[in-house]
Amino acid sequence: MKETLLRTRWQRLPEKTIRQFQAEKLRRYLGQVVLPFSANYREMFARSGLSADSFRTLQDLERIPFTSKADLVNTPEHPQRVRDFILVPDQQVLARRPSTILRALLKGRENVKAGFEKEFRPIFMTSTTGRSADPIPFLYSQHDLTNLASAGQRIMEIAGAQREFRLLNMFPYAPHLAFWFVHYASTAFGLFCVGTGGGRVMGTDGNLRMIQKLKPDVLIGMPTFIYHVLQQAVEAGLRCENLRRLVLGGEKVAEGMRRKLRNLAHKLGSPDATVIATYGFTEAKMAWGECPGPPDETPGGYHLYPDLGLYEVIDSKTGAVLPSGEPGELVFTPLEARGSVVLRYRTGDYIDGGLFYDPCPYCGRTLPRLVGKISRSSEVKSMQLDKIKGTLVDFNQLEHVLDDAPNVGAWQLELRKHNDDPLDLDELILHVHKVNDVNEERLCRELNNRFSERTEIRPNRIVFHNAEELRRLQGVGIQLKEQKIIDNRPAKSAPQAANRSDASSESDHKPAPGTDASPAGNDRVLTETDVT
Ligand SMILES: [Zn+2]
Repeated sequence: MKETLLRTRWQRLPEKTIRQFQAEKLRRYLGQVVLPFSANYREMFARSGLSADSFRTLQDLERIPFTSKADLVNTPEHPQRVRDFILVPDQQVLARRPSTILRALLKGRENVKAGFEKEFRPIFMTSTTGRSADPIPFLYSQHDLTNLASAGQRIMEIAGAQREFRLLNMFPYAPHLAFWFVHYASTAFGLFCVGTGGGRVMGTDGNLRMIQKLKPDVLIGMPTFIYHVLQQAVEAGLRCENLRRLVLGGEKVAEGMRRKLRNLAHKLGSPDATVIATYGFTEAKMAWGECPGPPDETPGGYHLYPDLGLYEVIDSKTGAVLPSGEPGELVFTPLEARGSVVLRYRTGDYIDGGLFYDPCPYCGRTLPRLVGKISRSSEVKSMQLDKIKGTLVDFNQLEHVLDDAPNVGAWQLELRKHNDDPLDLDELILHVHKVNDVNEERLCRELNNRFSERTEIRPNRIVFHNAEELRRLQGVGIQLKEQKIIDNRPAKSAPQAANRSDASSESDHKPAPGTDASPAGNDRVLTETDVT
């Protein structure tokens, strides 16, 4: 009964009720689903002396040790590590349950069998996209796909979608959450949706042609890619007067990027297009979105579903759970997942506002909300630039500085060695497409001032390009994701893109000990979570 209430009234319950219902659901989920069938957690709970009955209130959740990306990576001792996280039902355990026996009596054995197939048999998969590490697969049963669709339907409702909207899905076509989430969301909501597969499948031109043909109300994709496509549409003098929503996912969204996208939509003839950010990751097997608020106000935060998961914000150094409204790292525990299941999963993603339960100021829904900017672990750069000015560089902050800069369109930060000599000094080159006909010298001065005010470094050079050159530099339509920060230093190992991030989360990018950067104990490698 309470579980039904939590599901049907997911957007209308006060915090106290949510937490009480969630605690009961967690106990049931652990006792009936996770502990009997998950090799990893059965063993972990036994080792910690825990059982499902150890969980009376949500505070007891803290007794479960964290799981992080490192726990999912295969090692020589555990070549199939990720398999231990897949629920494998034991038929004898299921057969002995009174509920199973009752159902078999009422509806027949075949019906019971088909029910368990739907609940547990893996039939779908998405994976992370690490370039350095093996992608980590996450399996879905039909039960998970139903929840994926339901989460998708909710995001549509929250974003104010209407049945007659036409949606263009511009996420890269790949076995990653973003593309498929949009597919299931639009199917469940029942609106018309076409997937272009992003830049690599159809190119920017193909996406533009599709926009012309389809006249979509909604564009959904990575912010950098949507920016490029709209920029090109403006250059070509096209009109696109139907746009009501630009929905962004897969990378963080700076305030400046929202403004730029609204301006481009305006130029194309859609002055009222609303920009909405979403957030999701492979391990959650779902995503969440903002509701549309007034254009220049702080967004109302990502609206979370209390019946499908538990959300905690922790101090990433101590692991302590932080009170509502404090910034920290997001930790996720599913309440409905089958297939691959991780409990208290440390995302590595940092939210600079925090978790709130009070009614959303714009839509009035009462549900957990993640407020503020999210810095994704995949985007936390921890590279050193100490040879430039002996200083630390936080690339996350740099991205906000540049995305928010006036008169700057697309940009790329390139890190290279002077004369390509591995022993020489590091150089930072800023490639810029300037907009609004501003004078180059003046823009250089402004950008240098912006760098000095907000960071401790300045680029060695600023190079101006036209939009087409910058698209080529960023690899629009070639890379899975546009490269905004690129490391071209001829390191002792092969050069690599610093921006090897993805639509899902990824492990951190600290260089291996003894490779190219951080000597042991060096405290000068900065990550976003160290900033506060
Ligand atoms: Zn809202």
